[in-house]
Amino acid sequence: MAVDDNLTSIKDAVKKKLSLTALITKVDFQGSGVVLYAKNPSALTQNGDEIKELAKLIRKRVIVRPDPSVLMDPEKASKKIYEIVPEDAGITDIHFDPNFGEVIIEANKPGMVIGKSGKTLNELKLQVGWIPKVMRTPPIPSKIVDSVRQLLIKSSDERHEILRKVGKRIYRTPGRRNGEWIRVSSFGGFREVGRSSSYLQTPESKVLIDCGINVAAGDNVNAFPALNLPEFNLQDLDGVVITHAHLDHCGFVPYLYYMGYEGPVYCTPPTRDLMFLLHWDYLDVMDKEGRELPYPRKFIKETAKHVIPLEYGEVTDIAPDIKLTMHNAGHILGSSIVHFHIGDGLYNLAYTGDLKFERSRLLESASVRFPRLEALVTESTYGGRKDIQPRRVDAEKMLMDIINETLNRDGKVLIPAFSVGRAQEVMVAVEDQMSKGVIKEARVYLDGMIWEATAIHTTYPEYLNRELRDQIFHKGKNPFTSEIFRRVSSPEVRKEVMEGGPCIIISTSGMLTGGPVMEYLRNLASDERNSLVFVGYQAEGSLGRRIQKGWKEIPMSENGKQVIVEMNMQSHTVDGFSGHSDRNQLINYIRNIKPKPDKLFTVHGEESKCIELASSLYKTFRSESRAPQNFETFRLK
Ligand SMILES: [Zn+2]
Repeated sequence: MAVDDNLTSIKDAVKKKLSLTALITKVDFQGSGVVLYAKNPSALTQNGDEIKELAKLIRKRVIVRPDPSVLMDPEKASKKIYEIVPEDAGITDIHFDPNFGEVIIEANKPGMVIGKSGKTLNELKLQVGWIPKVMRTPPIPSKIVDSVRQLLIKSSDERHEILRKVGKRIYRTPGRRNGEWIRVSSFGGFREVGRSSSYLQTPESKVLIDCGINVAAGDNVNAFPALNLPEFNLQDLDGVVITHAHLDHCGFVPYLYYMGYEGPVYCTPPTRDLMFLLHWDYLDVMDKEGRELPYPRKFIKETAKHVIPLEYGEVTDIAPDIKLTMHNAGHILGSSIVHFHIGDGLYNLAYTGDLKFERSRLLESASVRFPRLEALVTESTYGGRKDIQPRRVDAEKMLMDIINETLNRDGKVLIPAFSVGRAQEVMVAVEDQMSKGVIKEARVYLDGMIWEATAIHTTYPEYLNRELRDQIFHKGKNPFTSEIFRRVSSPEVRKEVMEGGPCIIISTSGMLTGGPVMEYLRNLASDERNSLVFVGYQAEGSLGRRIQKGWKEIPMSENGKQVIVEMNMQSHTVDGFSGHSDRNQLINYIRNIKPKPDKLFTVHGEESKCIELASSLYKTFRSESRAPQNFETFRLK
């Protein structure tokens, strides 16, 4: 088979290029890398030039792993690790993974396991033979992070095999072509919000970009991407690339595995964990509502197992003619703009996913620099002519004023929020303003999945903005672990909160479509001292939107019975906390992108917004700008 020919030529290059002292026992593919198993790996790692030259020659990433025969006995190695690593690092767990020759060290302070310029890490490698991989123990214990890590350890054999298969597929010998072309098919999320999915095709490869669901769709026809279009065939799929963990971008991925897909999913590590959380929650909600599940639960785990995590800026081969790089999108933790380098300098495409072109309390502003760029697909959520949002500082001031006024009159502030993104944004703002004395001291209760999502944020501080990282790493002050935050962990605690004194409550769901926020609303609505504050988008048809429109009597269910709740509490809408760019920011983003793309496509917005944004982009930049419809195929080259 052609693949074996490729491997044979790599083996030849290894023989020619590397010194014999390394004692290479095996050469194999592993994801986008070529792995060399060596009996004397330090002979290679100490002299990095040989490896660099080999990588250049075979044009692939080269990974050196120890041959299983030279690995130290785990028990002995464990002892050694505790000897070498300073006690202050706070090691909480050590796992050995023989398939990858890795020892996974979980610690409270990963930096201390790594040491200055990696000194401690190198020492570990030399002494125990295993490759040390350091992970942060979340300062807030996280069930999800724990489950994902356990799952990856347990499925090591399987993942090893998956990566071999992926590698073989990436480095297959390209087939015969009849000309060069690049096309994108729109499977969902074009001229609409929800079920985002695009299918990138070249003569050689096929990649699915996002695979979301529309949670607001009442029926299954409009809820899922159109994977039944004739151009789609699961067997052809080289990979799935996920921009971020919101369900409208990743909710349908497990379905692919349910249908028999066995290939990889590429995303950042925080996206993998957040996605795992949101997938479980999605099925739980469907179950509670008595709706049919689109896929059995076990395919959530299948998805996580098949994730190949990528950090921002890491260039990776994902198909014979496609290299993928993820860049910060500024939208939620781990969100990415995905950049595809197609062919050998043939074409470059970037897809923004959801995008925030402004530094937020949590994240840096979206990246604008790409090595090359011919086409850009951009989101358009707030791309309409009137979609101008207030400045973040003004929005924050407004929120703080509402909080102060409410607390001063002995009321409670109820903030419905999505568990991932808005909730943490509000948390950091409130913590900051409370610690500076701008707002009165009060407890902030977190209900629903917010606590778990926050715990995942504390696992990946590297993905937060510079200011937060500086606070956490150098000033030892992590806003998320502040004393002011309390978890509502049971119905009893919830009852105490509702019956207790003035406080702030942040709870899911963000649009008052279900979740614990409903119980708070039912209990707090009649008291005029309380405030309800919307900080996120309220979709048409949601209870949140109805209250915004001024409904004073709201029908709600209590113990299965319909009741009418009088809305006496004050209701406020604070725009400006959004994780999306408003119209000006979107246009500004494209103005700032380097290099300037020739073609622009608008997606992920109501029909009028996609069209209006495309038209404004054309007028502003004179670049070809279009708002494709769902179920089209458009040609890039
Ligand atoms: Zn999103």
